[in-house]
Amino acid sequence: MSGTALAAEIVEAQAATRLVSPGFERWAEQAASCGHCANPIRLRGSATTLDRATGEVLSSYDSGTEPDGVLYVRCGNRRASVCPSCSHEYKGDMWHLLAAGAAGGMKGVPSSVASHPLVFATLTAPSFGPVHTIRRAGRCRPRSRKVLCEHGRPVGCEAVHDDGDDRLGQPICPECYDYTGHVVWQWWAPELWRRFTITLRRLLAASLGVTQAQARDLVRVSFAKVAEFQRRGVIHFHALIRLDGPPADDGFPAPLADVPTVQLAALVRTAAAAVWFDAPPTTTGDTVRRLRFGVQVDARVVSTTAERELGRADEGGLHPETVAAYIAKYATKACEDFGLPPRLRAPEAARAMGIAEHVCRLLEEVHRIAAAGSDVYLPLVKWVPMLGFRGHFATKSRRYSTTLGKLRTARKRWSLHRLRDPLGQDGGTEPDVLNEQVDDSTLVVGSWSLDGFGWLTAGDAALAATAAAQARKWTDDRARQRRASHDQR
Ligand SMILES: [Zn+2]
Ligand SMILES: [Zn+2]
Ligand SMILES: [Zn+2]
Repeated sequence: MSGTALAAEIVEAQAATRLVSPGFERWAEQAASCGHCANPIRLRGSATTLDRATGEVLSSYDSGTEPDGVLYVRCGNRRASVCPSCSHEYKGDMWHLLAAGAAGGMKGVPSSVASHPLVFATLTAPSFGPVHTIRRAGRCRPRSRKVLCEHGRPVGCEAVHDDGDDRLGQPICPECYDYTGHVVWQWWAPELWRRFTITLRRLLAASLGVTQAQARDLVRVSFAKVAEFQRRGVIHFHALIRLDGPPADDGFPAPLADVPTVQLAALVRTAAAAVWFDAPPTTTGDTVRRLRFGVQVDARVVSTTAERELGRADEGGLHPETVAAYIAKYATKACEDFGLPPRLRAPEAARAMGIAEHVCRLLEEVHRIAAAGSDVYLPLVKWVPMLGFRGHFATKSRRYSTTLGKLRTARKRWSLHRLRDPLGQDGGTEPDVLNEQVDDSTLVVGSWSLDGFGWLTAGDAALAATAAAQARKWTDDRARQRRASHDQR
């Protein structure tokens, strides 16, 4: 028998043992409570919930009563290659967060935000040299075959690439491609974004004919953005940009100045085209590079509820939930698109794994610039697997909507409540056993120690993974149905 077959048989035997064990049903509940996480944290301990005023014991929990004597808690990893369940959950959270800020009416964001001007913008990188691409018209880069670059390669490409073509995003001529410019742009992209937000606020004030200080008393700009890698290995930003009023008690006041959404979209385009940043040279012999966003800036109007109800929605106007779902799709992608493992650093290792030559060259360039001697670029070494992108993949301004932390606390409370009260008898008000304090009226006194990470056997892990895949499909189907019925309304 081969080693693989033997291992498979052991896993099967372990799973079978679990299935017939007396505590299986409770174990299955625990596995479901931590979302069938691929690598759960195992905790031992107990917690008691007390009424703060009277000291009365409201509930208590002890992991010693569980089949394995442990409490299983999600790993919380965002990367699908590490934990499909937790990354899926994060994506769901991102959707809620973005949708709440776009459409309101959920997660503590009032439905009135849907009447605020909202724009969906895409800010791309400029070109660093021609790459293979899909064109609606057909051929990749139709040019005369006789035209060659200085490296003797044809400057055109007559192929019609399909979606699975490995050449997509790869340079037509790697020697012509500006790898240094690419990595330098990627490194400073967060700075370009920062300047974009400042410029947008300045342009908005100018369009209202007031100073920036005066404008802040009328309108505030809130945004949520996601960074996505294009096939050529450079990020671009998708952003939801919304206008609110100055801070008030209810948190999401309407703007006090009338700025039509189409005007906001125009201001976004102008701001994106205007911003620049002079990147310092990478070495003593190098030049300053003036960095800008690419010319393909897109700023589309997201139709407000009021506009849709009046039948005045912009022709090309997008539905808020559609945009939120589109953005959230990218929230977990990170560098996995290139097949880069989280800790991959060496270009030689990437080549040995069969990773695209263009990505290997980018890795080399990141290393080269980091080692070139300029202090400014030394920190690049920390961002090698991200191809030099140091920003966050998903960010939002404070007031855009609720926070991921709030969503997680709410869900953790709910799932831990379910864990101890599977029949749902007490109305779901029990506090989180892992938090010291959840609200003012109760106090949780607990003591926990780490037992370890992961499922106890490979058989348990296989059972959890199978259940997780089914659970994800089920929740996805449900969410799709919900969104479809929402769209019909
Ligand atoms: Zn996990
Ligand atoms: Zn091509
Ligand atoms: Zn060339």
